Formats: sequence, C-alpha cells, structure tokens
Amino acid sequence: MDLPLTPVLEHYGIFFEPIMQHGRWTTILCPVHEEDRPSARTNGYGLMCHACGFKGDAIALARRKEDLDYAGALRFLEGVYGRSLDQVQREHQGIARREVPHRRTRTHRRNHRTTSPRVRRRPLSGT
Ligand SMILES: [Zn+2]
Repeated sequence: MDLPLTPVLEHYGIFFEPIMQHGRWTTILCPVHEEDRPSARTNGYGLMCHACGFKGDAIALARRKEDLDYAGALRFLEGVYGRSLDQVQREHQGIARREVPHRRTRTHRRNHRTTSPRVRRRPLSGT
C-alpha cells in the first residue's frame, strides 16, 4: 500500500515540506525515538532512521508507535487520515490522473491561435 506518510508524521508532531517528487528523500526528526537533531529520512511514503534503525512505511510506523498488530494499525491510520484507507489511495491515484487534462488544455489553446487577424478589418462600403 502506498499510504502518504505526511499526515502520520504530523500526528506525531513532525512537520516538513510535502514532497511532490516521488522517490526524493528528505531528512526529518525521527518519530520513533526522541531526538533533537534529525537523523531519519523520508520520501513521503517510507521512513528510515540511522539512529534507531527503524525502517518502514505508515503501517509499520503506526505499529511501532502504538504497539498494534497489522489490523489495529490499519484502523489507527484510518483515524489519522479521517477516512478509509481505500479512499486515501483513490485520492492519491486521482492526483496523478488529474495532470493529463491540464496538458490537453494547453494544446487546445495553441490551435485556436491560428485564427487569422485579417478577419477583423471591415471592407469600406459606399464608394
Ligand atoms: Zn529513530
């Protein structure tokens, strides 16, 4: 499951700029162990900590922090996101799909530019 990690990190009081590019890693404070200097890294979906050795996704983080089993972690995450995990995933896929019509609009506008400006001139009448 590709669950966004940002809302879960915010739940534990860790805020960082949302990562738009998939696969880009940012250094953050580790939510698993208490620390002052960031030693964990996230790409928005996975988390890795050099200090305590934690490695995992939103589900693994919830299990570790809340001491839950897999099913319990899923229920806990639904509470964090405020909706079902199916819904979270569907929204996530929707963001990727929404970029396509935007590109089409730009091409559409370009095609309309070929209208000749000469049409505007009115022929002189009565002479
Ligand atoms: Zn850690």
